[in-house]
Amino acid sequence: MSMSDNLQQLLSAIIAAEQQFARMPGSVKLLAVSKLQSVERIQQVLQAGQLALGENYVQEALEKILALTTEKIEWHFIGSVQTNKTKIIAQHFSWVHSIDNLAHAKRLSRQRPGELLPLNVCIQVNVDEEATKGGVTLSELPALAQAIAQLPGLVLRGLMTIPAARPNFELQCEPFRKLRLALQALQTQGLILDTLSMGMSNDYLAAIAEGATIIRLGTAIFGERIKREA
Ligand SMILES: *Cc1c(COP(=O)(O)O)cnc(C)c1O
Repeated sequence: MSMSDNLQQLLSAIIAAEQQFARMPGSVKLLAVSKLQSVERIQQVLQAGQLALGENYVQEALEKILALTTEKIEWHFIGSVQTNKTKIIAQHFSWVHSIDNLAHAKRLSRQRPGELLPLNVCIQVNVDEEATKGGVTLSELPALAQAIAQLPGLVLRGLMTIPAARPNFELQCEPFRKLRLALQALQTQGLILDTLSMGMSNDYLAAIAEGATIIRLGTAIFGERIKREA
């Protein structure tokens, strides 16, 4: 199947899942994760109408951003944030999903150009507390969220997570439910948040069932990625 066929199928599956899980029509947005994909392949998904793109590696992303300036693309940074790359992120992206410390948030706040809209940010939560993954723990989350919400140049939109792989739908729902409850707790504390960035190619239906507003799909759109050298 072509990437455009994959996209059409996924958009239908999202609509069906919204109905099945009593979600508002249109409440789940598809982010196409284009890391390690060529500009030519990205152009094909753009032509199919998919304009929200997620990238993990700053330098790779910047080359694509500069090569695709004619398109109305919404660029989302979803990779691990490095201190020496925050300026490029602040200058070239609309969203960052993967904030997990106040120092990075302060740099992005300071470095966001005044002529651009504020940068939309999500805090990454390491729900499964895996040593290999970024993100704050659920107990660290409230203080960080309150601090980031005060920063100019940023709009704290919500939470993001990358759970450990689980073998079936019921088990996949558990970490997503935790993230939803964490978002609700922050809302109860007065923060205005509307985003749950959760669900990838293998678990997006469970994420939609638990309230995802952005699902991040790479393989399901583009096929298997060619692995990057470490
Ligand atoms: C690579 C990646 C994705 C997409 O993963 P697939 O399994 O290919 O859908 C989503 N989110 C993040 C943070 C990623 O790094």
